[in-house]
Amino acid sequence: MEKSRELQLIESVIEDRAAKLLEANACIHDYAELSYEEVQSAAVLTKILREEGFTVKEGLAKMPTCFTGTWGTGNPVVGFLGEFDALDKLSQESGNPVRSPLQEGAPGHGCGHCCLGTGALGAAIALKEYLSAQGLSGTVIYYGCPAEEGAGAKQFMARAGLFDCCDFVYTWHPSAFNEISPDSSTAIMGANFEFRGVTAHAGGSPWAGRSALDAAELMNVGCNYLREHIRDGERVHYAYGDAGGTAPNVVPDYARIKYEVRSPKVAQVKELFERVVHVAEGAARMTDTQMTCEMTMAFSDSQNNTVLGRIADRALHEVGAPEWTQEDYDLARRFTESYDENSKESVREELRERFGDAALPELLNKPLCSVVLPYNPSAGRAKGGSTDVGDVTYTVPTCEVHVATYAMGTVGHTWQLAGQAGSPIGEKGLLAAAKVMALAAVYTMQDPAAMQAAKEETLRRNGGKYVCPLPDSVDPPVGKY
Ligand SMILES: [Zn+2]
Repeated sequence: MEKSRELQLIESVIEDRAAKLLEANACIHDYAELSYEEVQSAAVLTKILREEGFTVKEGLAKMPTCFTGTWGTGNPVVGFLGEFDALDKLSQESGNPVRSPLQEGAPGHGCGHCCLGTGALGAAIALKEYLSAQGLSGTVIYYGCPAEEGAGAKQFMARAGLFDCCDFVYTWHPSAFNEISPDSSTAIMGANFEFRGVTAHAGGSPWAGRSALDAAELMNVGCNYLREHIRDGERVHYAYGDAGGTAPNVVPDYARIKYEVRSPKVAQVKELFERVVHVAEGAARMTDTQMTCEMTMAFSDSQNNTVLGRIADRALHEVGAPEWTQEDYDLARRFTESYDENSKESVREELRERFGDAALPELLNKPLCSVVLPYNPSAGRAKGGSTDVGDVTYTVPTCEVHVATYAMGTVGHTWQLAGQAGSPIGEKGLLAAAKVMALAAVYTMQDPAAMQAAKEETLRRNGGKYVCPLPDSVDPPVGKY
């Protein structure tokens, strides 16, 4: 296929900045900082933004590592979302398919957010250069979004109105595949439930005690009965924050339990959460204890805007899959071979489902996605995970691109993914993603009717206005997560 003039220009910018972007990826990969603590990683990104002539604002929406970089003037206003936080205990040397932490027990980029942040930065720079070369009006905003793996940032950023100025937003996520996914992620709400009772000698005067632990246990029993009467795709999980001490002979007067509930849609998760609160109230009533509930996190469900999805799909096909070498295939295969038999079987299942039985031997031998998968917006399914990108999708037209950045057969949130994110495989993926997002943004800007249709779709989705699922009283848990 003949490359468009737009892609030629974008490719030349990305090639020119490749060394800088890959160095940033390597630094962020090795810094591997956890949610809300991404100080060095944010500094790498803001330094490049300033060098490229973007105006940087930091410490936004009550998060020290939340920032924007803005370039240009006038409309349209285009946003790119960048993430850069790591996951606990997944430290891994780049490109090494044998377990080898950079530092024992340290965090690592097991979700590839080092690539995510730098790839999105590449897109912002390429769009800036395109607008500047063509003398076009337009504003480019890079959003530095911390803590996606923690309690999130984008819902706080959306609540603060940071996305309101955008006409549309593109983002991406490292993936095993090259595709615009029609799937949605679930909405989530999390809260701490605290029970307060009365302590007593469990042998001597148990009648005087009111057990907070009993209340927490009864809440769990109630919620486990509730499971029968919730929607398909809904989830309820819990973990004890404080089980009330370790002494069986003391009636515990305090217990804290953390709940997270998920539903396909944000309106449904609010309803499910209310029902869990009712169960907690019932447990307190049964045990004569006091219950308080503090909401700690919430994300809306996420789904790609289909108007942007079609445009991004065209851009992804034009850019094509990253070009893999035999070395890349060999390295990818060594990473996939390091999983246990169970994980390998679930991977084979997914590959069979996507590509059919006959393709399996070749895919396992060369496990890097070398095609662009078709986009079918009506074939979407609700996936079990959740992301704070959801709140952006409820605010402005938003589309997330998936570009192969690791081997098919890689399990999310593992050291194997961290090892690939800093390798030539991750590097090729992030550069391709930068091109796709910049090209999709250019094509969207060229089509005012599409921009309007994308906005109308978002208004249908949010009922006219974004409403943050978190109460105003909940601030980002900086330093507490
Ligand atoms: Zn992620």
